[in-house]
Amino acid sequence: MVLQTKTHSQKFSEGPFSQLIIRGVTLVNGNGAPPRGPVDIVVEKNIIKNIVVVGYPGVEIDDTKRPKLKPGGKELDAQGMYLLPGFIDMHGHIGGVAQGADSDYVFKLWMAHGITTVREPSGRGIDWTLKLKKASEKNEIIAPRIYAYTGFGQGSKDPISTPEMARIWVRENAKKGSDGIKFFGAAPEIMKAALDENKKLGLGSACHHAQTDVARWNVLNSARAGLTTMEHWYGLPEALFEDKTIQHYPLDYNYQNEQHRFEEAGKLWKQAAKPYSDHWNKVMNELLELDFTLDPTFNIYEASRDLQRARRAEWHETYTLPSLWKFYQPSKISHGSYWHDWGTEQEVVWKENYRLWMTFINEYKNRGGRVTTGSDSGFIFQLYGFAYIRELELLRESGFHPLEVIRAATLNGAEALGVSDEIGSVEVGKLADFVLVDENPLKNLKVLYGTGAIRLTEENKVIRAGGIKYTIKDGIIYNAKELLTDVKRMVDEAKSNEDYTITQPGMKE
Ligand SMILES: [Zn+2]
Repeated sequence: MVLQTKTHSQKFSEGPFSQLIIRGVTLVNGNGAPPRGPVDIVVEKNIIKNIVVVGYPGVEIDDTKRPKLKPGGKELDAQGMYLLPGFIDMHGHIGGVAQGADSDYVFKLWMAHGITTVREPSGRGIDWTLKLKKASEKNEIIAPRIYAYTGFGQGSKDPISTPEMARIWVRENAKKGSDGIKFFGAAPEIMKAALDENKKLGLGSACHHAQTDVARWNVLNSARAGLTTMEHWYGLPEALFEDKTIQHYPLDYNYQNEQHRFEEAGKLWKQAAKPYSDHWNKVMNELLELDFTLDPTFNIYEASRDLQRARRAEWHETYTLPSLWKFYQPSKISHGSYWHDWGTEQEVVWKENYRLWMTFINEYKNRGGRVTTGSDSGFIFQLYGFAYIRELELLRESGFHPLEVIRAATLNGAEALGVSDEIGSVEVGKLADFVLVDENPLKNLKVLYGTGAIRLTEENKVIRAGGIKYTIKDGIIYNAKELLTDVKRMVDEAKSNEDYTITQPGMKE
């Protein structure tokens, strides 16, 4: 772990301050309220103390009516800017060994994209993550606040094979200081025992319902047993089956062959009950009654419906590490690199898969259900931070109003983590976690990308608009663009060390 020295970190951050006043900003809150401004936001150390509306659009602000700066306080002129609560990434792996992505690289990409909170659904091991969590809590490193969910069974001497073993492991996990558990599925009696024990302890849980266990235990079983959030989408179509009990696998299917795994997964929603049918409604309504959270992570599968889009994303050249780029390439070994023979047929099937999946997610939101935003970056051509903004765009595509997108990205995540009294919206008494951007993100979510949005000026000049300007966490102001510059430096260094240029799969250099 690299601890920032004082001088090193000053380039990237300032604060916290005895008093910080953010002046004249337009507030887009995470609670669903429409934009409002200009407002002055008063922060002391890392707590929001006051939010004062100081005028009207286009009218000069009367300075006598503004909150007063105390001696030693700091003012941030944010006129013309938009302020949102810090974003919450509910599915952020801090960086795998196979991807060669170390924590400093990943954290800076996240912070540069306004992500001030990350839930890690298992990673390099709970001790490693908890160490980073503590360092982030003390702001010794540049990193979002971390909620650590341990992979179920991780660290156990023997595979967990009985309900009693499951309960013991769950208690041990809580004792270590973990915030929850990430499941991939297990035998029903083990899932039941583990979820029951975890619920008693008041910890959170997430499950990627892997196809290996889903025939016996789908999303509905998990929700009934006390799971708090489901990841991705696996296990949901299975809960919606009407005319089968097992996915319609071709007979030469092999789960270890990821072209099989992902190609067939693309046909899954089509095998489930039709949108708005009785069974579809019944399953949705039961999940709603259980106050169950959906964390779809749309972006991580997007290459399945448009490989070229994901592969040629403009940020790869500048911000993707060589090791990560290599990991993404077609491979029988790397997870999520299932491009053995991926063509029009597979993409068209996946487009339909998305349409059905998005219909479910949007309607779940319309009926009062909680949908959150998770990225799962580091696989399938999805880059940390950038892919999170793409996730926001995909919620928009699903039918969410931009304000509903922002609420999913902020308050909903805080609620799912059980910390909505601290973060998730801009309210007096909450922590000073903010995103500041000099463009209106509701009009175009693309202004939140580190690379900004493309725009033509009145003078017929092409420019980049936006890119987050400041990310504030715990009252500390981070210069988002400086963080990105540092990521570029890391990537340049790795490229020059390895004499590496990014090329496309199968092409000669
Ligand atoms: Zn994941």
